[in-house]
Amino acid sequence: MIGAIILVLGLLLGSFLNVCITRLPQKKSLWWPRSYCDSCHKTLSPIDLIPVLSFLIQKGHCRYCKTHIPVLYPIIEVLTASLLFFLYLQFDFSLEFLVHVYLVCVLIVLSFIDLKHYILPDVITLPSIVVGLIISIFTPHLAFRVSLLGLIFGGGILYAMGWVYHTLTKREGMGGGDIKLMAMLGAFLGVQAVFFILFVSCFLGSVWGGVCVLFKKSTRLTPIPFGPFIALATLVYIFFGIALISWYQNIFIN
Ligand SMILES: [Zn+2]
Repeated sequence: MIGAIILVLGLLLGSFLNVCITRLPQKKSLWWPRSYCDSCHKTLSPIDLIPVLSFLIQKGHCRYCKTHIPVLYPIIEVLTASLLFFLYLQFDFSLEFLVHVYLVCVLIVLSFIDLKHYILPDVITLPSIVVGLIISIFTPHLAFRVSLLGLIFGGGILYAMGWVYHTLTKREGMGGGDIKLMAMLGAFLGVQAVFFILFVSCFLGSVWGGVCVLFKKSTRLTPIPFGPFIALATLVYIFFGIALISWYQNIFIN
């Protein structure tokens, strides 16, 4: 029963994240005006805004002007609901669950904005760094010291990597947004998570880069947004981090 409620809340939350993804890069208000069709600008009624169902009933078209609605909207709603459900299975209904819901929502918004616009807006990352630090003061699952160290190492390592790359190649390698995103994740998840996420995201990024070059979709120098890889690596950490770290220690250290 609670699982079903979480799924419905997740779909509604996903619908709000769609608004964030569309409006934040345009520096528009999230609350006003009410949702409208991007093509005919008609304000949508509540019946047009039921997550996933509206899209299915109207077969992916606006009810008023019949313009095609991006399939990404229901995908993001389903993605949000599924992740919320898995977080609930992982943390039960706890403070830790709510903290992770916030973090996952921020990562979804940042990833899809990065994929489309190649930016990670400061308006999300900077306040979230502060939120992560403050949360660590009031919650038992992460000490303030660990959170602060995570912030410093997360931002610091990426800044250093970017500096070395720039010095060697004279090209911009690591965006400022990536640095702030890693600092934010450090503040939320602690210093151990920073190293894990950095390692896994670099691995995923290089595999993807290699595949793209192999299929001639890009050259070695085509920029790829790094934010989604950091987000994916963070999900791996949240759901499998402890298991993977102990597996690694068993094999390579013991
Ligand atoms: Zn329309």
